[in-house]
Amino acid sequence: MAFNINGKAADANTYDVIVVGSGMSGGWAAKEFSENGFKTLVLERGRNVEHGKDYPTAMKEPWEFDHRLEIDPRDKAENPIINRCYAYNEATEHFFVKDKEHPYIQNKPFDWIRGYQVGGKSLLWARWTQRWSVMDFESNARDGYGVEWPIGYEDMAPWYSYVEKFVGISGNRDGLAQVPDGEYLPPMDMTCVEKHLKNNIESTYSNRNLIISRTANLSQAHMGRGPCMYRDRCNRGCPFGGYFSSNSATLPAAMATGNMTLRPNSVVHSVIYDDQAQKATGVRVIDAQTKEMTEYYARVIFLNAGTLNTTLIMLNSTSSRFPQGLGNEYDILGRYLMDHNYRGRISAEFDGFKDQYYFGKRPTGVYIPRFRNVGSDKQTDFLRGYAFSAGTGRGTGGDMSGLTDPFGADYKEKMFELGSWNIGMTGMGEHLPYHDNRVTLNKDKTDEWGMPQLEIDCEYKENEVNMLRDMLESGAEMLDNAGFKNIRTTDTGQAPGLGIHEMGTARMGKDVKTSILNKFNQIHAVPNVFVTDGAAMTSSACQNPSITYMALTARAANYAIEELKKQNL
Ligand SMILES: Cc1cc2nc3c(=O)[nH]c(=O)nc-3n(C[C@H](O)[C@H](O)[C@H](O)COP(=O)(O)OP(=O)(O)OC[C@H]3O[C@@H](n4cnc5c(N)ncnc54)[C@H](O)[C@@H]3O)c2cc1C
Repeated sequence: MAFNINGKAADANTYDVIVVGSGMSGGWAAKEFSENGFKTLVLERGRNVEHGKDYPTAMKEPWEFDHRLEIDPRDKAENPIINRCYAYNEATEHFFVKDKEHPYIQNKPFDWIRGYQVGGKSLLWARWTQRWSVMDFESNARDGYGVEWPIGYEDMAPWYSYVEKFVGISGNRDGLAQVPDGEYLPPMDMTCVEKHLKNNIESTYSNRNLIISRTANLSQAHMGRGPCMYRDRCNRGCPFGGYFSSNSATLPAAMATGNMTLRPNSVVHSVIYDDQAQKATGVRVIDAQTKEMTEYYARVIFLNAGTLNTTLIMLNSTSSRFPQGLGNEYDILGRYLMDHNYRGRISAEFDGFKDQYYFGKRPTGVYIPRFRNVGSDKQTDFLRGYAFSAGTGRGTGGDMSGLTDPFGADYKEKMFELGSWNIGMTGMGEHLPYHDNRVTLNKDKTDEWGMPQLEIDCEYKENEVNMLRDMLESGAEMLDNAGFKNIRTTDTGQAPGLGIHEMGTARMGKDVKTSILNKFNQIHAVPNVFVTDGAAMTSSACQNPSITYMALTARAANYAIEELKKQNL
């Protein structure tokens, strides 16, 4: 595709810092640089989504939707990938990338779930935010799978605290080494059945626990946002700011400084590398609407386009110094792609506590932290471990079998009867970093904007499958011990990607030959370019990852700020 380059005066397009992507991690970079007085350009490929104003479904009831929240069968046929995501429905569909509009190539099945708009996937996330632990940063070095992290928990702990204080996370201080305690607002309550399960698990097993999930929903008003109204409609966008998103929190903070320029509809094509200066000088941007290409310049560039799009931009940034992509001297860029293994599901019923119920629609669940290969537990057929997320509830609708007619007064009365308690559990397993789980660019196939399509080659291997077997057995055993009935275990068989925790492909490390980024997320060979989204991850642990991306971003941005002040960048 031939681009019409707009050669506006360079000065008008020059900033101190460019941030690519306005989602979970980009929002943090924007906030830190803007608040420290740096003129910051945030380039976002999607449309603008203004907090509150652009949440069209937030206040709608199910009967106000054309299909009562169901997706139209034509949409299902056209967009099979996003239709596999549990959060995709008539109330949220405008925040998801449609399969057919943004194609990619699956050498093996990979469900790539994306949100291209200001705020990215921070509008859609489930907000679970457990910290990584000492063990997680050491696991690669300890069992030799993957390269050693260049940082440890002690480097991250202050930055976890820093972001948690701003994000606003409800949670309990449980004193567990696998999920260290953070800075929490009051926790949400457990149901009576969850408390029963917790008591049973903790009295049966010396190394297993059940806690309320640490979650970025505001159990009390926090920094001018919230509190949460317990509507559990978060992923439509929350007009109360009851949960953390870029739109409700980081971007408004950045905007308030007057130092941020937010430019939606700006598809970053590549990073410009100056061979003579031996550094990056800016980025090339395609206007999503006019397709015109413009260059923007800055001293520092933060790539936060979301794991695979960040790597796509880097692979697409070729120069005589880096013909295989920015900083990719040893064929590492694109490799070691990971996604959590969410294939294991368990459901069951509990016959009891029929006189008890709960208040509101709690927007979170309970969490069973990792217990495999922790302390004295040693598994022989898999490395690392898994956690469980779980939630309980009571369905409505009594036993209809005795009714002759499925309507009328008797039917209505039965409809208001409460059913028995049920539980749903999902295993969340670590995915090892494999050399051949990778992405590459297919230059023969481009998208509507002329960008090469990404080719994805990723699978779960023996370690993940063995772990899955154990996950289903141990989960069912815990429920059985606690007196649950009708326990059903399922391997959904779902492909990687659907965990929506894609990580790796530009990993951090100590050695330039085996990693792309150093301990401050700078590209080894191009230190004025930082990557602080999931692409930077060296291993995947089993915790939901976004709080770690946020802490990495705040840490790297504050390092860059100091280096900028010293004129080192
Ligand atoms: C349904 C769902 C539930 C989830 N639940 C959780 C959870 O409970 N806990 C958790 O930790 N994580 C969860 N996640 C994952 C979480 O949303 C992501 O980890 C997080 O948003 C990643 O942040 P990011 O900044 O890397 O990417 P994003 O938030 O996706 O932001 C990337 C931004 O970059 C933009 N962009 C992409 N390419 C370009 C380009 N070429 N030029 C300019 N801009 C570009 C995109 O449009 C987007 O706005 C969930 C995700 C979903 C969808």
